[in-house]
Amino acid sequence: MRVLRTVAQTRAWRAPSGRVAFVPTMGALHAGHLSLMARAVRESDAAIASIFVNPTQFGPNEDFAKYPRREAEDLAMLESAGLAAAFVPSVEEVYPPGDAATVDPGPIAAPLEGAARPGHFAGVATVVKRLFDIVRPDVAFFGQKDFQQLRVIQTMARALDLGVRVIGCPTVREADGLAMSSRNAYLSPDERRRALALSRGLFAARDLWDGGTREPDRLVSAVRRHADAPGVALEYVSANDPISLSELRRPAERALLSLAARVGKARLIDNVLLGMDLSELS
Ligand code: AMP
Repeated sequence: MRVLRTVAQTRAWRAPSGRVAFVPTMGALHAGHLSLMARAVRESDAAIASIFVNPTQFGPNEDFAKYPRREAEDLAMLESAGLAAAFVPSVEEVYPPGDAATVDPGPIAAPLEGAARPGHFAGVATVVKRLFDIVRPDVAFFGQKDFQQLRVIQTMARALDLGVRVIGCPTVREADGLAMSSRNAYLSPDERRRALALSRGLFAARDLWDGGTREPDRLVSAVRRHADAPGVALEYVSANDPISLSELRRPAERALLSLAARVGKARLIDNVLLGMDLSELS
């Protein structure tokens, strides 16, 4: 596996023809990331991942400085996953001094995480656009875990005609239901146990959906009944249209149920997609 640290090295690596698949990450890799890597390897001639903790997507009081960084372990994991290359740039390499252009992700970034984290998706869209320009992939894989991020990138790729297919991959969970996340490393054993209330709430609502319930407020209440638990500070629970992300006010045939919560020092997000398959999104 080639470890590429500069834009020039990456452009040179990319030059040969062939179908290139790309998985952007912030590192501290886990089995969720590896599921994306497996698809990238399977569906390309050469798969490349990036490890870059992107400063522009963190708010001033967020965990940029403390975000887990484990480069050596990450590179070993990428190598055994069969990646052809890893792009591990410095901040200056991605954001050359004086180059201040940014991407406005538009209305898809307004609700949910966009409302909770002002500027977050402008940072995400800007870094992914920049990474796409450097890597020039044919296809890129993103996790359902960050559903709004997936939709922001799909919308950007279409609006700016980037020529990259953006594919969503299902959320990988621990055996007990907790969505895998690099931020789970912040949880004490007790907090980790309490955090299970989040997936439990989403699964209870999915059961209701499977039983025929379509009223958004009933679905949201079902999530809250479990997730509003001791040690869990819910920020929001919301039912939205999975394409536009506008909030659902009436029964619908498809829904994204999503939530954000603080558990100890960790801010966790999770979601379930109801009445549609990830592969229907592009
Ligand atoms: P991150 O390193 O957190 O920026 O995530 C990099 C990519 O991995 C994003 O597309 C995430 O949505 C995806 N990802 C993170 N956690 C999971 C998970 N538990 N299952 C599937 N994909 C995930």
